[in-house]
Amino acid sequence: MTHSPSNLLSRRGFCLCCVGGAALAAGRGWLTPREAFAEARGLVSLIKDSAATSPIVVHKLRHNISALEGSGGNIAVLTGPDGKVMVDAGIGVSRPQLMKALADLGPEPITTLINTHWHFDHTDGNTWLNSVGARIIAQDSTRKYLGEVQRVEDWDYNFLPPAAGGIPSQTFAEALDLKLNGISLKLKHYAPAHTDSDISVNFAEANIVHVGDTFWNGVYPFIDYSTGGSIDGTIAACDLNLAAATADTIIIAGHGQPVSNKSELKEFRDMLVGVRENVATLKRQGRTRDEIVAAKPTAAYDARFGAFVIDPGFFTRLVYEGV
Ligand SMILES: [Zn+2]
Repeated sequence: MTHSPSNLLSRRGFCLCCVGGAALAAGRGWLTPREAFAEARGLVSLIKDSAATSPIVVHKLRHNISALEGSGGNIAVLTGPDGKVMVDAGIGVSRPQLMKALADLGPEPITTLINTHWHFDHTDGNTWLNSVGARIIAQDSTRKYLGEVQRVEDWDYNFLPPAAGGIPSQTFAEALDLKLNGISLKLKHYAPAHTDSDISVNFAEANIVHVGDTFWNGVYPFIDYSTGGSIDGTIAACDLNLAAATADTIIIAGHGQPVSNKSELKEFRDMLVGVRENVATLKRQGRTRDEIVAAKPTAAYDARFGAFVIDPGFFTRLVYEGV
């Protein structure tokens, strides 16, 4: 399966994570660094161009919390007298559509923005959101990564820091509790999972949790080894998320359909474990990476999870890197 820019653009909510998939899985195996860079650079432009016109879909949940879909990673919004609290910022060029969606939720200003991790498709909107009054909160590593040029080796691509206002001004190492709009927000750092900067944001009274990119609902995930991610860390994060959830918990996924639940998360976790075991077995037998990709260790899961831009071959390579 290859990804042309047109089929990338046919999907709402794609992200920088997906650029890697497209650049690396372009039908003829890994691209040379020069090719990968050219393709990634072109696709970043395409993603920005498309985000500029994509509609934002609003999913109203409960306790004045909504999930917003259509600008990079899925966004959560809590409204109330303390001002709007956002979890993740989307892509900057979506500002007009996001402003409209946010205005439809109520007249309050945006006062607080929480980043689930450093990736572009979750933090690119930081600068404009800060400029309209949002303080930005994140885990220590998110601030560190946003403060320097980030080189993602798998993409041969360098991401430049945002303008100063887009850097989180309040950070924490392991946990931070806030009380806003009558809701107890519990921010918690995962052990290294999708990156080593991932946090969950739990809206306690509402039994809603945004788990960032530790969960891609119904699609193969990207895993960023360049900043501490791994397949085993991603599985461990899923186990934590499952242990904390009840049948009634609304789980907001970083990518894929945003409004999810424990049973879909369990399916995702079981897929990760199954693919990991298949790839590890083949690797122990001494097979090369390309032989393992050709053996299709994801085959049993492709119909359910393989339709997004992280395709089976690219996901297999990501698992191979970590077992
Ligand atoms: Zn990510």
